[in-house]
Amino acid sequence: MKENDAVQPARPSVDNFHQLLKEAVARTPARPAVIEPDGTGAVREVSYRRLDSLVKEYAAVLDGLGLDVGDRVVVEADTSAASVALLLACSVLGLPFVPVSPQTPDGRLQQVLRAVEPAVHARADGLLSRQLPPTGATARFGPDGLVVERPPTRSVRRRQAVLATDTAYIVFTSGSTGRPKGVVMSHRAIVTFLRAVVADGLADGDDRVASTSPLQFDFALFGIGIALTAGATLVPVPRERLGSPRRMIGFLREAEVTQVHGVPSLWRPVLRHDPELLRELRTLRSVVFAGEQFPVPELRLLQEMLPGTRLVNGYGATESMAASFTDVPDPLPAGYERLSIGRAHTGAEMTLVDGAGRVVTEPGASGEIYLRSPALFSGYWNDPEATAAVLVPDPVDPRHGQPVLRTGDLARLGVRGELYFLGRSDHQVQVHGHRVELGEVEGTLARLPAVTAAAAVLVPRGRDEVLMAGVVLDGPHAQFDETAALAWCARELPAYMVPRRVCPVPELPLTENGKVDREMLRHSLAAPRNTPDVRRPTNA
Ligand code: ADP
Repeated sequence: MKENDAVQPARPSVDNFHQLLKEAVARTPARPAVIEPDGTGAVREVSYRRLDSLVKEYAAVLDGLGLDVGDRVVVEADTSAASVALLLACSVLGLPFVPVSPQTPDGRLQQVLRAVEPAVHARADGLLSRQLPPTGATARFGPDGLVVERPPTRSVRRRQAVLATDTAYIVFTSGSTGRPKGVVMSHRAIVTFLRAVVADGLADGDDRVASTSPLQFDFALFGIGIALTAGATLVPVPRERLGSPRRMIGFLREAEVTQVHGVPSLWRPVLRHDPELLRELRTLRSVVFAGEQFPVPELRLLQEMLPGTRLVNGYGATESMAASFTDVPDPLPAGYERLSIGRAHTGAEMTLVDGAGRVVTEPGASGEIYLRSPALFSGYWNDPEATAAVLVPDPVDPRHGQPVLRTGDLARLGVRGELYFLGRSDHQVQVHGHRVELGEVEGTLARLPAVTAAAAVLVPRGRDEVLMAGVVLDGPHAQFDETAALAWCARELPAYMVPRRVCPVPELPLTENGKVDREMLRHSLAAPRNTPDVRRPTNA
């Protein structure tokens, strides 16, 4: 036997992210897998067959580096045919990928690199250069191939096969629910999840799925996964198109998109400045939003501008990619305040547990959501303690030994077993000993006619902390009277839940992933004079 024969390509299991591509190629090789700008202003279609050959090309290069199953590859890129191909090439070889957006600040990137110690850091062609650690392998990739700039030291290959339980990816959360953690997902978890969601009818092969989140947010991986699983077409919306409503809507229209994925804040600029533009989206069939609550006044307007379009509320956390997809009632009934997050996708179940650890069965009662699912994450990267805090014994019956996910989210049980999201248990704050759900304060403010979105926070005042809120008004000419708003809150809420101040802000500040950045809002509302000075949000 020659020495080289000892190194065989890893054999992936059928529960592998790459399997989704394999099945799509077998079914519809000529169908466009990705539609993207070609650099000249026009769009190009990359067929499933072409995507497959790019994956093979990349995999051959990676395979030549002598890496072992489990070695991490950081992929710094926006969503594109090339980056999708690289994620799939990593998967077929059992190399967990760690997606990072090119917008990630240097400091944050260094933290990720230190944590995952990647075997290779691959950057998309055309990115601005940045300060990288002087050691470690680097590569760049694009439609023309994967080029290794600094090769890795060859590791000893201990593993041959890629198992369903092996890691597909590690995603670092943005930390809107706490400090960023590396969420480790197995191939089995994501493939099981994606197949269930497509079987539930979220998308089909005729869809053109627009993805708008940065690659490091698993919402982007979700879009890629849904498109591959359904054999649909992925349409990554270029970041520069997201900055202006006209350019964003123009792109969606030209690409004849049928489904758009994005956080609620994606829609805020167009709803505020030019809602009529939405009527141009004639091919659109569904909008899937997720990541946080969609303020009901904004959702109402979206529904009015997109008659007949399915609006789907995706609920869940990175730790299970998502848990449920629930159609928004059409039309939204008057007085509707809280969106239903329905029931879990097929194959999973959400259970409510009250403060005493009892399962909630009474409609109207509330508790924390526990998720039982075959698609749960494996654990937090290198953090067994944090893992043990959320992967816990099943509160219904711990005897079977399968852990469930303790989500930290609170919900109320509806009469038909559906759930209504109430807020994070950690957004439950104490004001002078009283328990306050920030979500409830926000919901009350959002019912004011001039207000389209609101966020409440606790702000330090001397040795005390006071409740304050930032509100986004319905256009530049909306009439807002703070005294009247406070009087409205005093009528609707117990005294301890009435904010000390309600300040109009031009925009709610956003995290890198496009969710409301409460920390930032807290700082700006805490500033002397309280003149909110919030950075213009970007969705990239
Ligand atoms: P991070 O925001 O820290 O990056 P995640 O994206 O995993 O982490 O955030 C998950 C959390 O986002 C959930 O636990 C829940 O609190 C909130 N969330 C997600 N989807 C929805 C939704 N549709 N409605 C309300 N809250 C949501």
